[in-house]
Amino acid sequence: MKHELCVRIDTGGTFTDIVVANDQGQLRTYKTDSTPGDLAVGVVEGLRLAAAMRPAHLSQNTGGQRLLPMGEYLEVVAVDNRIVLRCKCGSDLGDADKNWKERAAVVRVGANVAGPRRKLHEDLEMVEFLCPACGTLLSVDVKKKEDPFIVDAMLSTKLLRELITG
Ligand SMILES: [Zn+2]
Repeated sequence: MKHELCVRIDTGGTFTDIVVANDQGQLRTYKTDSTPGDLAVGVVEGLRLAAAMRPAHLSQNTGGQRLLPMGEYLEVVAVDNRIVLRCKCGSDLGDADKNWKERAAVVRVGANVAGPRRKLHEDLEMVEFLCPACGTLLSVDVKKKEDPFIVDAMLSTKLLRELITG
């Protein structure tokens, strides 16, 4: 399957704008501080984003029994005798009792691109978790660089199974 991404970068005097579009027409935009000494910083960031939106080799399935919404884009679904977290696009992000972030597309945002006029402490990093299939931004963590991904919630599949079986 062929997937194409279009990355456009506008390096302005104050801000650099980065737009990444996938072949379903979904857009992700970034505004970063321009780095006049080395404009490539913004370009590299755009390409890192594009890389994170690579096509997923994950099963896409919109069937099953929806058990629980997890924010705007994620839901807990019972499908084929498993309980999984799934993006609204149908991408399976793994068993609901595991940390789905391990299966997400990860973009580590450098300290100088946390946003216009904002900088992170040098010991911290901002990590974006995107659906690897559709590129939707699902979660953002700010954590110490050496720490593992933050676990937002760990679901008990035993409990969820009880919900299904009544
Ligand atoms: Zn998705």
